[in-house]
Amino acid sequence: MLAELRGLNEECGVFGIWGHDDAAQLSYYALHALQHRGQEGAGIVVKGDNGLHAVKGEGLVNEVFSGEKLNSLEGRGAIGQVRYTTKDGRGIENVQPLVFRSTTGSLAIAHNGNLINATDLKEHLERQGSIFQSTSDTEVLAHLIKRSSGSRNHRERVKKALSILKGAFAFVLMTDEGLMVAQDPNGMRPLSLGKIGDAWVVASETCAFEIIGAEHVRSVEPGELLIINDDGLSSERFAEPADNAMCSMEYVYFSRPDSNIDGINIHAARKRCGKQLAREVQISADVVTGVPDSSISAAIGFSEQSGIPYELGLIKNRYVGRTFIQPSQALREQGVKMKLSPVHQVVDGKRVVMVDDSIVRGTTSKRIVSMLRDAGAKEIHVVIASPPLIAPCYYGVDISSDSELLATGRTIEEMRDEIGADSLSFLSIDGMLESNGRSPEMKNCGQCLACFTGEYPTEIYSDTTMPHEKEIVR
Ligand code: AMP
Ligand code: SF4
Repeated sequence: MLAELRGLNEECGVFGIWGHDDAAQLSYYALHALQHRGQEGAGIVVKGDNGLHAVKGEGLVNEVFSGEKLNSLEGRGAIGQVRYTTKDGRGIENVQPLVFRSTTGSLAIAHNGNLINATDLKEHLERQGSIFQSTSDTEVLAHLIKRSSGSRNHRERVKKALSILKGAFAFVLMTDEGLMVAQDPNGMRPLSLGKIGDAWVVASETCAFEIIGAEHVRSVEPGELLIINDDGLSSERFAEPADNAMCSMEYVYFSRPDSNIDGINIHAARKRCGKQLAREVQISADVVTGVPDSSISAAIGFSEQSGIPYELGLIKNRYVGRTFIQPSQALREQGVKMKLSPVHQVVDGKRVVMVDDSIVRGTTSKRIVSMLRDAGAKEIHVVIASPPLIAPCYYGVDISSDSELLATGRTIEEMRDEIGADSLSFLSIDGMLESNGRSPEMKNCGQCLACFTGEYPTEIYSDTTMPHEKEIVR
């Protein structure tokens, strides 16, 4: 069952705007700023005079939206999404926002995260007669809203439906009347509220506000439902906030360095991680280099703290997609080769500290170590600005099954041997939390640590009984 749930995984970037004449154009620019969160599909749905109108496609934002297509999207409200999928979630039918039309009105949904009880809910809903148009877990919400009984009020139905969902979710919904924005009770995915003129905006990352000139207002709170319409903004709760469990990998890898999460700048947090690493491990070396892009901040921090000069030892070919997205191991290895090149003059004859943000399968580190050796590096010390990944993620981040993780069943020495480095070090969990402005003393640390500890902040569903079944589904 759990393996089956993993097939539904996805991680994405979402955006919403209400009350602006250029809603679609601003969504397009915002999705560009969120492109690093997903490169396999993009979509914008706009609220026009004749209801909801969607343009979606597979590929990058600029591949999906020609000027003509963008100009066809007229209206003062819009939501958008960039999407990253694992292999089971591919296909145009899964590209979001999903749009549902019925006699009672239309609904568009963009989702970032993963619902851990989606399979159970889906089976139950299908038994009740629901027909699903995609394999995405997101669609479950639409069916739950439709079938939610007890209240004629749309807002109450949405709240009731949201309260049944388990897992990580940042939802942006749009109807003909306005937006609804929801964050899961553990606050596992970043979601921020901003303002541009009189219009409200929401985005997975604050870097989307920067690009469109919006001002950041605050984070959407765990268990909160924001309602944004022509009357303005109001806030309600669909669930009591649970232990705060923001995804650690947002700080480690996903988010852009210029984004802030809960007031903490990602570049600054990564730099502190690098400094902390330099305090935790003592290495004699000539040069520090980082794997572009996500490790540069940590490498700068490591260099500052250790006094070993930072150099550009690896160059990224910007026009190749992220290695992780290649489906097979063979292709991933090919991808790493295509993506990075060593700067021989920097590493030749040197003792090199190579900083990377994380080790998942070990493919990247292994390739880079051999690349640096071929370029003449005398010693290669790999330092990782996060703790070892030992457990899978059920909340939408593609961290593979345990068996694929390099750290599973291996000591650090065995991992070092596997990647061929002279030494290998990881940041401690406490060091990571403190660098992110979270305290190990905080309840549940304020961050999800499940992939580093195997302890999950929510229950992981595997039975087929739907919670509160009788209450909420007709
Ligand atoms: P691997 O080569 O499998 O060890 O993957 C490690 C590299 O992938 C690191 O350099 C990270 O920058 C990147 N990475 C880490 N986690 C993820 C993820 N969930 N999705 C995509 N890339 C990731
Ligand atoms: Fe993020 Fe890891 Fe938690 Fe998944 S298990 S939500 S990747 S911290």
